[in-house]
Amino acid sequence: MTDARRRVPRTDALLADPRLADAERRLGRALVKRAITTAQQQARAGEISPEEVADRAVAALPVSAASLRPVINATGVVVHTNLGRAPLSAAAVEAIVTASGATDVEFDLDTGRRARRGRGALAALAEAVPSAGGVHVVNNNAAALLLTAMTLAPGREMIVSRGELIEIGDGFRLPALMESTGARIREVGTTNRTHLRDYADALGPDTGFILKVHPSNYLVSGFTSQVTVRELAQLVQGEGGGAVPLVVDIGSGLLTPHPLMPDEPDATTVLRHGADLVTASGDKLLGGPQAGLLFGAAELIEKLRRHPAARALRVDKLTLAALEATLLGPPAPVAQALDADVADLRARAAQLADQLPDAEAVDCIAAVGGGGAPGVELPSAAVSLPERYAAALRAGAPAVVGRLENGRCLLDLRTVAPEDDPTLIEAVRACS
Ligand SMILES: *Cc1c(COP(=O)(O)O)cnc(C)c1O
Repeated sequence: MTDARRRVPRTDALLADPRLADAERRLGRALVKRAITTAQQQARAGEISPEEVADRAVAALPVSAASLRPVINATGVVVHTNLGRAPLSAAAVEAIVTASGATDVEFDLDTGRRARRGRGALAALAEAVPSAGGVHVVNNNAAALLLTAMTLAPGREMIVSRGELIEIGDGFRLPALMESTGARIREVGTTNRTHLRDYADALGPDTGFILKVHPSNYLVSGFTSQVTVRELAQLVQGEGGGAVPLVVDIGSGLLTPHPLMPDEPDATTVLRHGADLVTASGDKLLGGPQAGLLFGAAELIEKLRRHPAARALRVDKLTLAALEATLLGPPAPVAQALDADVADLRARAAQLADQLPDAEAVDCIAAVGGGGAPGVELPSAAVSLPERYAAALRAGAPAVVGRLENGRCLLDLRTVAPEDDPTLIEAVRACS
């Protein structure tokens, strides 16, 4: 044993192994040394033989220099916040790679002069929402709301229905976020019912804007009443035409109506109904990178753009590249998951279950997620496995995250791209 310990290969010898030398060029020395050290310790502890150290170090190498690991989302939640929300399309990934070097994000190659930053993404957004006079992009929807409050209501009031004062997850509350700018929330109505006269009574010289929030992650049902965008638009028009802007946070980011989600608001319709400004997330139903999208009247957008804090909220070139490619490229994974035909999902589930031990194909219900369309159920199909598979699948490479239901581990195929089916088969086999 002592002899074997003495024979544990030295670090410099291991770094000369072509596989580890290649990894050093890709990942850097520190990460490769970490994998080597772990393997050497295992050999010294007698867990593996000295001959196995190099192989073990290679196996322990991370996939990339970042600690984030690839995951197959088999949860059936299309926009899964804890799994990074929208997976990007291949077109968006390619655009990111292209833009990752020096790029003309703020430069006109024809004239050799400075140009409008992100003009390609802005043009694509304007084309997607023709009813918007102007568009602007910030870091996320929370940033869009922050910029709106800072620009339109410093030291003044934002009128919001009590039924729309929401918490968006991880303890973040929209009212607290907005009030952090120094603007004050003027709550109107009650949790279940708010009427037009509640808004009308609250309007006054201190009003900065009216905010309507889509309560995207919950439903209030029963004896309820909320005021529509159309009614609010008429109210503020009566106040002297645009003196009090009507801002609508639609949340999940549909740009046009979606047939599966009739109750989910979209930017085009909300603007047509008279909203002055619409805010939305880029990485929910739009299926793009994390971003906050602002659509609205041209002068209003210009005012937001000119606010000193806009610079602190702006997005980087990679986001702009991915956003433009999401808008102009082929349907993103989120759209594919939403539009997948349940008959196709059933056929895939049957085919996968046939090739796997312990598995059966079952029908199930998938969800939109990401705080969107809470009542919408998406018919789906899954590979059902014994519950013990769940932890082993999560530990795999790539990790597979399923959903536990009635003591079974379901791999819901609505959120798995068909091209990932072979990987899924390998992952399950490796656990059985
Ligand atoms: C998700 C959501 C937000 C926050 O958006 P982020 O892009 O995550 O900052 C704000 N408002 C509503 C209605 C939402 O659904």
